[in-house]
This record gives sequence, C-alpha cells and structure tokens, in this order.
Amino acid sequence: MSDTIFGKIISGDIPTEFLYEDEHCVAINDIHPQAPVHVLVIPKKGIPRLVDATADDRDLLGHLMLAAGRIADQLGVADAFRLIVNNGAGAGQTVFHLHLHILAGKSFAEGQM
Ligand code: 5GP
Repeated sequence: MSDTIFGKIISGDIPTEFLYEDEHCVAINDIHPQAPVHVLVIPKKGIPRLVDATADDRDLLGHLMLAAGRIADQLGVADAFRLIVNNGAGAGQTVFHLHLHILAGKSFAEGQM
C-alpha cells in the first residue's frame, strides 16, 4: 500500500467503485476523464513510479498489462485503446503510486500523443 490517494482507495479508506479487482490490482474510473473511457489500473502494491519497479516486480508488471487488456475487452474497447504510464512529475505524473491509464472511445489522431 502507499500513502497516496490510490493507497487509500485500495485500502477502502476512500470508498470507490472497482470496475475490476483481482489479487494484485484494481481498476477504477478516472475522476477527471480525458476520454469517454478513462480507466486506471492500479497495482495493490504501492510502487511510486515505473522506474522504481525492480526485477521482483516483473510478474506484477506483466499481470497489469494482461489485466488492462482484459478490462479493455470487458469495457468493449479491445479494438482501440491507449495504455499510458506517466513516469515522474515532468511527464505529468501526479499520483505517486504506479498506475496505467486506459483511454478509449475517441479518435486519437495519427501522430498525436
Ligand atoms: P497521473 O497524472 O499521476 O498519471 O494520473 C493520476 C490520475 O488520477 C489523474 O488522471 C487524476 O484525474 C486521477 N485521480 C486523482 N485523484 C483521484 C481520485 O481521488 N479518484 C479517481 N478515481 N481518480 C483520481
């Protein structure tokens, strides 16, 4: 767990609807969606940034990718979604508990990030 908003969501201190939950991660709707579908996949283990993950987290990182695919499928967007990780404040990371953004439901123009 981490002492962040996501740590509090995972521990249940801040009640939040989970779209998905398994032993290692949860998925929630982003509070400020940037697309019609904007879901966060959050590991229960509180790794601050992707760069802080170690070889011990190899299975967990793979698990998160697989879970993101499954969640996208569940949401009906398996054919067109973006998966984003912001690493560090300079890249726009605001919550220092690793998470994946699933974005879908709008057109992502070619070449745009
Ligand atoms: P980051 O900028 O760190 O990659 O992404 C953090 C995301 O968490 C942002 O898109 C922000 O809107 C979302 N967020 C921040 N606080 C909360 C919250 O309390 N609940 C939910 N569901 N999302 C949050």
